[in-house]
Amino acid sequence: MHAPVQKNEYCDVGFEDLTHDGNGVAKVEGYPIFVPNSLPGEKGKIKIVKTGKGYGFGRLMELYEESRHRQEPPCPIYKECGGCQIQHYSYEGQLAAKTKHVRDVMTRIGKLENVKIHETLGMTDPWHYRNKAQVPVGERNGELIAGFYQKRSHEIIDMDACIIQDQKNDEVIQVVKDILKKYSVRAYDEHKHSGAIRHIMTRIGHKTGEVMVVLVTRTKELPHQNKIIEEIAGSIKGIKSIVHNVNSKRTNVIFGKDTKVLWGEEVIYDYIGDVKFAISARSFYQVNPAQTKVLYEQALEYAGLSGEETVIDAYCGIGTISLFLAQKAKKVFGVEIVPEAIEDAKRNAELNEIANAEFEAGEAEVVIPRWYKEGNKADVLVVDPPRKGCDEALLQTIIDMKPKKVVYVSCNPATLARDLRVLEDGGYKTAEIQPVDMFPQTMHVEAVAKIELV
Ligand code: SAH
Repeated sequence: MHAPVQKNEYCDVGFEDLTHDGNGVAKVEGYPIFVPNSLPGEKGKIKIVKTGKGYGFGRLMELYEESRHRQEPPCPIYKECGGCQIQHYSYEGQLAAKTKHVRDVMTRIGKLENVKIHETLGMTDPWHYRNKAQVPVGERNGELIAGFYQKRSHEIIDMDACIIQDQKNDEVIQVVKDILKKYSVRAYDEHKHSGAIRHIMTRIGHKTGEVMVVLVTRTKELPHQNKIIEEIAGSIKGIKSIVHNVNSKRTNVIFGKDTKVLWGEEVIYDYIGDVKFAISARSFYQVNPAQTKVLYEQALEYAGLSGEETVIDAYCGIGTISLFLAQKAKKVFGVEIVPEAIEDAKRNAELNEIANAEFEAGEAEVVIPRWYKEGNKADVLVVDPPRKGCDEALLQTIIDMKPKKVVYVSCNPATLARDLRVLEDGGYKTAEIQPVDMFPQTMHVEAVAKIELV
């Protein structure tokens, strides 16, 4: 689409939407212009910064009409950090924007009509919700610092607290930072590829209060290992596990291959509802435990199990959804691509004495077609794929297998909409969709869809 405006031009616009990175969207003759720090419902003067084929960028010069949902971002480092995108939007506004986003993509990409899309389920207190923190470590004027990468850069800014983190995580990071300082441990320098400590990771069991600390170093050894372990173990309440990971590569990836338990257990435990989970340093585990329960309960409700069903849980991770469903199903089969996660899933089944769940490592799009060929069908199929959505081969197998119900848990509404269209064309009908806010203050939104065979 040809740009109806030019660089450096000023225009008066109204803002309608928010993009996934929290920019407001204004339209000039249908041409979208993305403008940081503007909110839906606002009006203002913008200066065009850049124009491209399909869209442009602008800067907000003056606000004529302010949204009643605009608020002062409570975090003092909000602007520099970029971890959150919409702290300047009231929580009510955030939830409404997420619902609208899901509704828009279902119409635009999914071409779905008459689907009941509920209001996004939010949190009562949308702060301090994260159970896991991963902070990069660096040095400033010879002093060790740990915090976050400045927006669009690799500069580390020191941080005392992150207000979407569990306060315990902030406390743990500060304690570990002080101990590392005390022993003058050198931080990793990514330009020189020198120094030792690269990242501090901490995870807390929301229900149990158990804490794990992971120290990632470039060096094979953690300097002053014994002293540091002793001090961490002695000063953090609830500490159950101290883990060392070695990442000696020049890379942005946080973890290296080698992980070793230095002190305590290999795992910490947590509960979602009544199901207990063992979580190791490298396991994928949902970061917002309170909302995870809401999400899984919704999936369970949509599955509508009576106790007689065979269920397949594709993309099962460490078996979280599978074990949740197993309590109400005859049998659950979980499949997941990461073998270590499958080991965790089996261990978690045992831990909860759940005997009707089985797990297999492999690609969902390979394993499930094979199960189907061997005559193993599901009454209910649950998928919870990564952002890119389901593989086509898996969708085709679902259409052939014809489970009565499909429950789709999605972290990306755009690929959910795309996949729902495929299922609709294959004989299914989307009955309803429930968005759930797992990441307040950011633009991410999860959604659960109930899909039935017609
Ligand atoms: N249901 C789990 C995990 C969801 S995240 C939970 O709620 O905790 C998505 C999972 O899909 C990840 O564990 C990832 O490793 C896995 N995955 C990615 N591609 C896959 C594929 N092709 N086949 C099976 N699993 C896959």
